[in-house]
Amino acid sequence: MSSALLDHYPAGSAVHKAYEFAKNAHKDDMRESGDPYFTHCIEVAETVHAWHLDEASIAAALLHDTIEDTSVTFADIEKKFGKEICFLVDGLTKLKVIQYPEDAESQEVENLRKFVISFSKDLRVVIIKLADRLHNMQTLKFLPKERQEKIAWETAEIYAPLAYRLGMQKLSGELEDLSFPYIHPEEYRWLVESVSDSYTDRLKYVKRVQPALLRALSEHNIRPLRVDSRAKRYYSLYKKLVRYGMDFEKIYDLVALRIIVKTVEECYSVLGVIHQMWQPFPSQFDDYIARPKPNGYRSLHTTVFCIDNKIIEIQIRTQEMHEEAEMGIAAHWAYQQARVKKGYTQRNWKGVANRSELLWVEQLRNWQENFPDKEKFIQSLKVDFFKERIFVVTPDNEIIDLPRGATPVDFAYRIHSEIGDECVGAKVNKKIVPLDQELHSGEMVEIVTHKGKKPTEDWLRFVKTEQARGHIRSALRMKTRALRGRIATSFTEFKIANQDRPGYLKDVTAAFGELKINITYLQSQTDPRRTFSGVIVRSEVLTPSRIEKVLVKLKKIPGTREVTFKFVE
Ligand code: MN
Repeated sequence: MSSALLDHYPAGSAVHKAYEFAKNAHKDDMRESGDPYFTHCIEVAETVHAWHLDEASIAAALLHDTIEDTSVTFADIEKKFGKEICFLVDGLTKLKVIQYPEDAESQEVENLRKFVISFSKDLRVVIIKLADRLHNMQTLKFLPKERQEKIAWETAEIYAPLAYRLGMQKLSGELEDLSFPYIHPEEYRWLVESVSDSYTDRLKYVKRVQPALLRALSEHNIRPLRVDSRAKRYYSLYKKLVRYGMDFEKIYDLVALRIIVKTVEECYSVLGVIHQMWQPFPSQFDDYIARPKPNGYRSLHTTVFCIDNKIIEIQIRTQEMHEEAEMGIAAHWAYQQARVKKGYTQRNWKGVANRSELLWVEQLRNWQENFPDKEKFIQSLKVDFFKERIFVVTPDNEIIDLPRGATPVDFAYRIHSEIGDECVGAKVNKKIVPLDQELHSGEMVEIVTHKGKKPTEDWLRFVKTEQARGHIRSALRMKTRALRGRIATSFTEFKIANQDRPGYLKDVTAAFGELKINITYLQSQTDPRRTFSGVIVRSEVLTPSRIEKVLVKLKKIPGTREVTFKFVE
């Protein structure tokens, strides 16, 4: 028995040593499947390798079951492999004590997830644990029924959500789908039976849409890297069906079209072309590029009335966004390593790190920016970084994580900018508290708002999050502007009338791109004879000199007839 894994590492490396060591330690053990136990260790290590983790992680993956299952001790590992690998193996061994309680309350489950993270001290431990769990789930059918159910519940409730929060959506979906038949067997059977026809129909339909879409894009000189279809995963479909009264007709993303392009500007160009061709379904447009999901997910989602007036969801993203969506934190590792190899400068990380509000993952990215070299980055992960975070609860039992020292005002802005702006009071565990009171983990926080109320400068003295600070400053700016008798604005809108031609939209988005202005909304309309069209572009509020630059650039684009702009609240 040997593994292709070994070919990636030199003889005598920690990976080779760990391989031999674990193979020997487990030599008498069998899995319930009848396979030698060591096959499990190889599988886990191969997954960790595929996720691009470092050598220490792969060695730890090979060794992860040695301490508990064999006569090997902690001291043996430390002596043979050194502190780092020993630390990872120790974390993995300790994690085994975590037991999913039966009939757990949602709060308990949430705490358990946090426990896994904080207990691990190093995110590599969590990631190796996830690889371990993936293989256990793939081989769950060999276990006795009772253990199957327990492990499946634990996977669905603890590990799949953890993977999701680390941005590893593909893994999260896989873990959920592997649990599904064990935790809801009847519903699973029902779903598989009832969905198969719908899936086939939708897939056929999507295949019909693709050529029309590609034609339209190429008319605008857009060549996507890839267009493919993605079928919704069973468990996620099941959860959505429960929310929509088990009505398949309401699930527009049963099969979605996914368009992968080269740049962010192109994402919006593609969106423009699609909305020009097919009417968007009202209020089904999500711009996760301008506003990523808390786990870092970025993409444009739109739902349109497509060919034969059927409703379909279309997702648009860049290759980098795609990899991040699938691999999350592991993708960042891969980028990190690739860039270190290619000698990229720190500057290249700005775009990744400053992008947005990213809760757990946000911190990691900031760290990556601070640690452009891989060694230091890995070092930094060894700190228990969650000790700097607190977790408080909304009245709806949603968990909000904030930096230590955060106040009710930070909390309010984390919920919604409007709630922050209009916040006049706060209750902690149902008792009224001052707005500058420090919050602590486990507290239930409620915000009292008053319509039309604006923040005061005083808040800047005590808020802890950049998010709150930013919103307060901009609200204060608007207040002064309003006082001066000018209209408060929240974005700038450009209206362009133009002669329609292929590539026009792309030129428009490129113009904004060159000026480093983020487009937050883009819509275009063409008259039926396709001689004349109008484009509406919105961006953040721009200064007069920036607006001037935009106007100059837009007017230079061949085909532009007229450009106007306004501030919109
Ligand atoms: Mn294991």
